[in-house]
Amino acid sequence: MSLPTLNDTPARHRIERLRHEIRRRELTVTAREQLSPRMLRFTLSSPDLHDFLSAGVDDHVKLFFDTPEGPVMRDFTPRAYDNAACTLVLDFALHDHGPAADWARKAQVGSVLSIGGPRGSLVVTDDFDWYLLIADSTGLPSIGRRLESLRESVPVTTLVLLDSADDAQAIATRADWTPHWLARDAGEGDDATRLLAALRALEWPQGDGYVWIAAEAGVAKALRAHVLEERGHYPQWMRAAGYWLKGEAGAHETLG
Ligand SMILES: Cc1cc2nc3c(=O)[nH]c(=O)nc-3n(C[C@H](O)[C@H](O)[C@H](O)COP(=O)(O)OP(=O)(O)OC[C@H]3O[C@@H](n4cnc5c(N)ncnc54)[C@H](O)[C@@H]3O)c2cc1C
Repeated sequence: MSLPTLNDTPARHRIERLRHEIRRRELTVTAREQLSPRMLRFTLSSPDLHDFLSAGVDDHVKLFFDTPEGPVMRDFTPRAYDNAACTLVLDFALHDHGPAADWARKAQVGSVLSIGGPRGSLVVTDDFDWYLLIADSTGLPSIGRRLESLRESVPVTTLVLLDSADDAQAIATRADWTPHWLARDAGEGDDATRLLAALRALEWPQGDGYVWIAAEAGVAKALRAHVLEERGHYPQWMRAAGYWLKGEAGAHETLG
């Protein structure tokens, strides 16, 4: 199928980019929760969070880590925040090794973490007829935030690839949520093959839909190509990002 002819249809929905002043904040861990075998949740506190702002559900903050090779930064989603309580919640999908994953494994109440941002936000007005959210576990924090914020009864389908089914999450939402959890340890094929097969099997709903994709960069590219080329979806009504790159430390890619 070819791309839809560009007309003014995509302008029916308001998607706004906001810029914020970058601030660096020093935070202290005040709670650590093992959400599931491969997902750790930290609540971090600091009086500096009284004016923290994250306007988009797929915003990111930079986390700063000191390593033997020097300082490095990693992107993480503000899963939740509370200005009055001066807290920020971050969820870490644990993988084998890296400064962020290593910090999360070791951090305890009292550990400190330096963050910067968010520098910008993409704010999607919640007036689409349906939502389709596709990710691996690194995109689950943003999916959780979006599910919590979507309006009552709006259909939302999630397709999330986890290491194992034990990492599935219960998320409170008013939306009409259909979750599909895929587990790497149950089934054949690599991430792209598994997610593409599940995506192909989905019935595409009627009406205007917003599609969001976050996964390993090569996987996100393959999913994005399917949505645009095989489903003929408007590029303006989707966002795809490589949240990490196989074999490369600290890498990510915005695909549009
Ligand atoms: C906008 C944005 C928001 C993000 N939000 C979150 C979030 O809220 N929670 C979260 O957990 N992650 C999130 N990520 C992904 C996270 O930034 C990356 O996984 C990051 O590489 C982890 O850093 P690290 O120091 O642990 O590993 P790195 O030092 O970056 O990587 C070390 C090695 O591990 C591999 N690797 C990195 N991540 C993974 C993974 N998830 N699974 C398997 N192998 C991996 C790399 O390819 C590399 O070979 C987000 C990314 C972006 C771009």
